[in-house]
Amino acid sequence: MSSVQTDPAPRAAAFDGRVTADASLAPYTWFRVGGAAEMLYSPMDTDALAEAMRAWPGPVLPVGVGSNLLVRDGGIDGMVVRLGRGFAGISVEGDTIRAGAAVPDAKLAQAAQRAGLAGLEFLRGIPGTVGGAVRMNAGCHGTETADRLIEATVVFRDGSVRTLPNAALGFGYRHSALPDDAVVTEAVFRGTPDAPGAIADRMAALMQAREAAQPVREKTGGSTFRNPPGESAWRLIDAAGCRGLRIGGAQVSEKHCNFLINHGEASAADLETLGETVRERVRAASGHDLHWEIRRVGRPARGAAA
Ligand SMILES: Cc1cc2nc3c(=O)[nH]c(=O)nc-3n(C[C@H](O)[C@H](O)[C@H](O)COP(=O)(O)OP(=O)(O)OC[C@H]3O[C@@H](n4cnc5c(N)ncnc54)[C@H](O)[C@@H]3O)c2cc1C
Repeated sequence: MSSVQTDPAPRAAAFDGRVTADASLAPYTWFRVGGAAEMLYSPMDTDALAEAMRAWPGPVLPVGVGSNLLVRDGGIDGMVVRLGRGFAGISVEGDTIRAGAAVPDAKLAQAAQRAGLAGLEFLRGIPGTVGGAVRMNAGCHGTETADRLIEATVVFRDGSVRTLPNAALGFGYRHSALPDDAVVTEAVFRGTPDAPGAIADRMAALMQAREAAQPVREKTGGSTFRNPPGESAWRLIDAAGCRGLRIGGAQVSEKHCNFLINHGEASAADLETLGETVRERVRAASGHDLHWEIRRVGRPARGAAA
């Protein structure tokens, strides 16, 4: 790669891996909405990613499988990094399990179960990737990623590659302190030895509870708002009369009212406006200020209100 070129497109064409200019992101998100990425890059391996991060002059945004992501209709300026096959390995050593950041959470949970390692069952029903789980400190049923993570390898915006221990990741509720443009490439977790059959039974029970409570087969982004301390976002939304509320093709789920749903014809703007309407109504009804858990990224469509 030349270090004197200034136009990002020819530079990106030389990156190792798959590079697509003006790539629609809607197919890569659970909501199935949103505009295009200026550049979508799927690196071959960590070295290629680090080199591309050093060479790319604009903004960088990592994405997983878009299960917690609302890409706005005007798309994303810069390079969107989506890890693929080169980051999909899983290996078990003793009571630790190492997974590439592109590994689906469910696969990691199943691999741990087969290896007789308990503690990762909670990941079975979270529809994201290991990278997204680390970034978001994903969790449910009283366990979160930070409880089981030993360390994560991260490529930073300047191309430096560092393996950080759990304590350096600044974990909080659905939060890590990683910069928005840092890419997690691999993570190591600790399991607790247990009988594979007992682990499988617990995972099945968690999946059953999830199917009963959440609209898991819809175009959704998971929990829209964080739970305020000591409160449930869904309870506040329900009490504010928002269950089933609809704007365009976007609707507050009837099944779980902290989930927004795209009925097929929603735009990102419909979904975001619906979320903001819910926030206003909850504020008026209870005084609580809900904070988005879903990550909203990119620009509104040209001509739309910001
Ligand atoms: C039906 C449904 C149920 C859900 N249930 C839960 C639940 O029980 N608990 C829970 O915590 N979440 C839940 N979610 C939300 C979501 O699955 C999690 O937040 C998940 O961790 C997001 O992972 P992802 O790979 O899809 O990331 P994305 O949605 O693609 O991205 C989310 C964020 O992570 C960042 N990111 C993604 N990959 C990387 C990477 N490799 N390196 C650095 N940053 C990265 C993105 O930049 C973005 O900020 C649910 C979602 C759905 C649709």
